[in-house]
Amino acid sequence: MKKSFRLIPMVILVTAMIAVNGARAQIQVVTTLQDLRSITESIGGELVEVFAIATGYQDPHFVDPKPSYILKLSKADMFVTVGLDLESGWVPPLLESSRNAEILRGAVGYVDASENVPLLEVPTSISREGGDIHIFGNPHYWLDPVRGKIIAENICRGLIRVDPEHEKIYRQNLKIFREEIDRKLTEWVRRMLPFKGTKVVAYHNAWPYFEQRFGFQVVEFLEPKPGIPPTASQLAKVIETMKREGLKIIISSPYFRPQSADLVAKNVGGGIVVTLATSVGAEEEIVTYMDLFDRNTQFLIDALEQAGGSAGD
Ligand SMILES: [Zn+2]
Repeated sequence: MKKSFRLIPMVILVTAMIAVNGARAQIQVVTTLQDLRSITESIGGELVEVFAIATGYQDPHFVDPKPSYILKLSKADMFVTVGLDLESGWVPPLLESSRNAEILRGAVGYVDASENVPLLEVPTSISREGGDIHIFGNPHYWLDPVRGKIIAENICRGLIRVDPEHEKIYRQNLKIFREEIDRKLTEWVRRMLPFKGTKVVAYHNAWPYFEQRFGFQVVEFLEPKPGIPPTASQLAKVIETMKREGLKIIISSPYFRPQSADLVAKNVGGGIVVTLATSVGAEEEIVTYMDLFDRNTQFLIDALEQAGGSAGD
C-alpha cells in the first residue's frame, strides 16, 4: 500500500517532464500570413511548429484579433510579420495582449520579413490621406518569389537567434529553398513570356512585385486608393480606360465581393475576371509557397489566352 502511494507522484512528475520536453522539442512560431508559415516550415522543417493567424482567403490588411491568437502568441518563441503597414491594424494589439517580451519588436524572437527587401512604390511623404493603407511602400512583396528568398533569409536568421544549436540545419534548408525557387522561377517566367507587356486592371494594388517579375502591367485599380472600396466614378474611369485600350482582364482576390469586378467586365464587353490568390491557402490546392506561383501563373495564363493573349499590345 505504502509503495503504490509513493509511485503516484512519481508518475505525475515523469508525465509532466515529458510534457515540458515535448513542448520545448519544437520551436513555436507564429506568423501573420500563411505564406510566412510555409516558408518558415521550409527553413525549420521538423524543428518548428508554425501557426499562421490569417487564413489564405482573408484580406491580410483586415484580420479580426481573436483570443486564441493571443494564447498562441503568448507561448511563441518566434513571431514573423510582413511588416510595413500591412498588419498595422491588428498585429500591435495582439502582440501587446500576448505579454510575451521574447517576440516584441527588437527582441530575438521578432522577425520582420521585410528586412532587406527592395520595396516598390515608397512614397516621398508618409500620409494616410484619403484612407491610403500602403503608406510605407507597397507591402505585398511576398508575391515575388525572388523576394521570397530574402524573406526566407530573414526567417533563417530568426530561427538561428532563437535556436542557435541547429544553425547548420536551418542554413542547409535555406540553401535548398533558394535553389528550388531559382529552378521554378525559370519555368514560371518562361510560361509568362508570351504575355510580356500585357496590360490588365486589378481590384487592389497587391500586384506590383508579381507583375514586375512576370512582365505584365496593371494600369488601373477598382479601388480609388488602396483599402478604399470601389466607387461609381472610379469604376466608370476603369471601364473607360479598358474600352479605350482594349483591355479584357480584371484581377481580383478571393475576399473581394464580386459585384464591382463583374460590373466592369460586363460593361467592357468580353471582360474576364480572374481571381488570383494573394496567399497560400486561398484555395485547397495552394498548400505551399511554390504552389502559390504555380497556380497564379496558370490562372493568369488561362485568362490571357481566353482574352486572346494580345490585349493591350
Ligand atoms: Zn494592400
